[in-house]
Amino acid sequence: MLSHWLTEAGLSPDDAQPALEGDTRADICIVGGGYAGLWTALRLKERDPSIDIAIVEKGLCGSGASGRNGGFVLSWWAKFGSLCKFCPSDEAVRLARASADAVGEIGRFCADNGIDAHFRGDGWLWAATSESQVGSWTALLDTLERHQEHPFERWEPETVQRRSGSARNMAGVFEPTAASVQPAMLAQGLRRAALAKDVRIYERTPMMSLHRGRPPKVVTPRGIVTAEKVVVVMNTWATMFPELRRTIVVVASDVVATQPMPERLAAAGWTDGMCISDSRTLVNYYRPTMDGRIAFGTGGGRLSFGNRVGERYDGPSPRAREIEGFFRHIYPGFSDVPIATHWTGPIDRSLSGLPFFGRLDGRDDLLYGLGFSGNGVGPTSVGGRILASLALGAKDEWSACGLVRDDVGLFPREPVRYVGGRMVIAANRRKERLEDEGRTPGPLTVRLAGLAPAGLVPVKGVDAPAAKA
Ligand SMILES: Cc1cc2nc3c(=O)[nH]c(=O)nc-3n(C[C@H](O)[C@H](O)[C@H](O)COP(=O)(O)OP(=O)(O)OC[C@H]3O[C@@H](n4cnc5c(N)ncnc54)[C@H](O)[C@@H]3O)c2cc1C
Repeated sequence: MLSHWLTEAGLSPDDAQPALEGDTRADICIVGGGYAGLWTALRLKERDPSIDIAIVEKGLCGSGASGRNGGFVLSWWAKFGSLCKFCPSDEAVRLARASADAVGEIGRFCADNGIDAHFRGDGWLWAATSESQVGSWTALLDTLERHQEHPFERWEPETVQRRSGSARNMAGVFEPTAASVQPAMLAQGLRRAALAKDVRIYERTPMMSLHRGRPPKVVTPRGIVTAEKVVVVMNTWATMFPELRRTIVVVASDVVATQPMPERLAAAGWTDGMCISDSRTLVNYYRPTMDGRIAFGTGGGRLSFGNRVGERYDGPSPRAREIEGFFRHIYPGFSDVPIATHWTGPIDRSLSGLPFFGRLDGRDDLLYGLGFSGNGVGPTSVGGRILASLALGAKDEWSACGLVRDDVGLFPREPVRYVGGRMVIAANRRKERLEDEGRTPGPLTVRLAGLAPAGLVPVKGVDAPAAKA
């Protein structure tokens, strides 16, 4: 089953680019045709239109997370504390600013290339939906103030409630630079733009193995791509590489979408495309669509033993009832609006909550980008710049940036990772349910819940931003 976005975008196997048949050569072979792969190709072409690029995609471009996400186009300002943990603060500021600039650039890219991806620059509300979440942003905003950065507006509770269409959003701060998109239409548009620049795209062409000879070879069922450089941007599927397997946790995120109800949204006061998330670790995220639905998602879904990404990260959501419950709790005024559809998808959660870029075996011709951690719609465009610089061998602010690093934190080995991960998720569910009920979770639950890797937003009292000089 395709996500609602893919269906709405009209993505059809009939329109697939031909699969690779026979052997071929390319200057650069990109494995993975999601946003990260497509942006990397486009950034490379911007810098050198003569480069011969082949993208190898196991399904259709955008059929991974890029065609199924919530459509929030966010910066890294909410992750500034995490950036500061491994970057000097001026570099953290530069990267966060670049990620904020990327939001507007995506809007302009769509406009300039005739891509109708429903881009709406109506901002992001970081909200609290229980008393215990109120002030989750305080430590971060204080740190940002010290750096004289003011990406967030502090809203009065009354404004939060009025603009978000529900009193359950009881407090919050607002980032005006954020935007929303129809995710699959953005992926399709990037694919069209890449094809227009003579990027070769082989769809329904899975890489079976990567031969690490010189030059490297990408082996697919009916042909081999021999390339000067290979760029691996396979999201969770990159765990097929043993050296990357422990750098992320594969975890599902799930989305439900209501029937269209534009008049009801208008009556509730949620009149623009503003995105909203609450301050949970297992975050709820919600926004209106162009046709007046609410798309409502929740993080912290299915884990898999050994980080294997099978079909269980595809198709309908196994948690649709639970997520519908969160939606009805936050929006009791829409209790009669039916859920029309739901789906699931995989997230590549890194320990820091930020992506990382590097070289397989330390080789300049085998590059990768991974770990967007549920915040990739905007940041993959920055990732494309980083990977383009690495692939071109350029010595610049992208190839030398703080996200290109060898010291990526590793998750524990199995079975500790899987068993521990499930315990941490269960503790967070318990903690957040009790907090919704106005109750205080016990110290053991809080301690266990606090072991979760950094999420979309810092967790109050657990992930307070630290600035490195
Ligand atoms: C339900 C959900 C909600 C989300 N919500 C948001 C949000 O609101 N905002 C936000 O910023 N981020 C969100 N994200 C995260 C965001 O979608 C990702 O960070 C982003 O799409 C990552 O892009 P990518 O190109 O790295 O991955 P993908 O789009 O997954 O691309 C990887 C590609 O590699 C291909 N591939 C895999 N194995 C092979 C192989 N062997 N050979 C060839 N190709 C292969 C896959 O088919 C896939 O197309 C969400 C993710 C999910 C799942």
